[in-house]
Amino acid sequence: MAVPLLDLKAQYETIRDEVMEQVAEVLESQYFILGPKVKELEAAVADYSGTKHAVGVSSGTDALLISLMAAEIGPGDEVITTPFSFFSTAGCVARVGARPVFVDIDPASFNLDPGKFEDAVSERTKAVIPIHLYGQPAAMDPIMDIARRHGLTVIEDAAQAVGAEYRGKRAGSIGDYGCFSFFPSKNLGAAGDGGMVVTNNDENAEKLRILRVHGGRPKYYHRVIGGNFRLDAIQAAVLLVKIRRLDRWTAVRRKNAGRYRDLFKQAGLAIEPTGCFERGCHDWPDCELQGRNGVVLPQEVADRHIYNQFVIRVDRRDELRAHLKQREIGHEVYYPVPFHVQECFAYLGYKQGDFPASECAAATSLALPIYPELTEAQMREVVDAIGEFFL
Ligand SMILES: *Cc1c(COP(=O)(O)O)cnc(C)c1O
Repeated sequence: MAVPLLDLKAQYETIRDEVMEQVAEVLESQYFILGPKVKELEAAVADYSGTKHAVGVSSGTDALLISLMAAEIGPGDEVITTPFSFFSTAGCVARVGARPVFVDIDPASFNLDPGKFEDAVSERTKAVIPIHLYGQPAAMDPIMDIARRHGLTVIEDAAQAVGAEYRGKRAGSIGDYGCFSFFPSKNLGAAGDGGMVVTNNDENAEKLRILRVHGGRPKYYHRVIGGNFRLDAIQAAVLLVKIRRLDRWTAVRRKNAGRYRDLFKQAGLAIEPTGCFERGCHDWPDCELQGRNGVVLPQEVADRHIYNQFVIRVDRRDELRAHLKQREIGHEVYYPVPFHVQECFAYLGYKQGDFPASECAAATSLALPIYPELTEAQMREVVDAIGEFFL
C-alpha cells in the first residue's frame, strides 16, 4: 500500500461544499484583494494566536520580509537565526541588505540553541529570528531575555507553527512580530500562497499595513517604500473555512505522533536519545547515531508541538530513503543543506564544521507522513517498511 507524505485531497473532501460556497461568494462580490474576507480572517487569526493585530500578506516569506522592513533592518545590520530552516528565513535577511549571522540548533528540538545565542550578538545585531521548526516552539523565554537585554527585535518564524504553544502562549504572540505561512502543506494551508504577521504593538501593525500597499498612505502618497504584499480574498475565504477545524486537525496530528511512538517502540525500533543528543553534537561523522539500527523519535520539549512535520533521525538516511521510495512510502528531508554551506551564502565566510548540530540534522533527519487523515493501517505500513530496512 502506497502512503503519501501528505494527502490534501483527503482533507478537501471533508470541506468541499463549504469551500465552494465561500469562494463563490468572493467571485460574486468581485472583491478580490484585501477587503472584508481578509479582515475577517485577520480577526480570526489574531484571536487564535492571542494577539492584538494580524495583517494578511502574500506569503510566509513576505511575512518575514515585511517584518524586517517594518523593523527598519537594512545594510550594516546583522540578524541572528539558525542555519537549519526553510530558505526564506535567511534569504529575507539578505534581501533587505542585512547580514545573516548563524547560531547552531539544539539537537533535541532542532531550534535555536539559547545557550549559543548571546555569543553571536555584536554591536551590529538588530534582530533575531527564532524558528519554530516542524511545529515546535523554540525556547522563547531565554531567547526573549537575551534579546531584550540587547535591545533586539524578535521576529518569530512561525510558518510551521500556527497554534503551537510555549508556556501557555501561542507561537507568534511572544516576540515583536510573528510570521505565519499558508502554503498548502502547512497545517493551515490556503489554495495558493498566503501569509500573516501578528503583533501586539499598534505602531508595528500600522507600519505593516502601510508597507503592504507599497508604503502609500493615503493612497499614492509615499513616505516609505513598501511593496505589493497583499493577501487575496479567495485565500482568506478558504482559510476561514479551515481555521474553524484547525484545533481538531491538530489534535489528530498529535494523536498520530503518539501512535507512531507506540508503533516504533513495539517494533523495537525506538532508540533512546543519549550521548550527543544530551551533550550536544560533535562533528558528523562522529555522531553516536552511526551504526545504530532504529530511529530517534522527535522530542517534545514545548507545551504543544503541532506536528507540521514528524521528523525522525536515522543512520544511513539516504539508503533508507531509497528503500522507502521503492516501497512507495512518502517522506522528505527538511532540509538537506544548512544555510552556512549554501552557495549563495559563501560570502558570509562560514565553512563545513561550523555548526555541527545543524549539519548532523541535515544528514540524519527524515520527515514521515503525519497528516490528520492518515489511517492507523498506513502508519503501520510506514513503521513496517522502516523495520524491514533496519531489522
Ligand atoms: C514555509 C516556510 C516559510 C515560507 O513560507 P511561504 O509561504 O512558502 O513563503 C518560511 N519559513 C519556514 C520555516 C517555512 O516552513
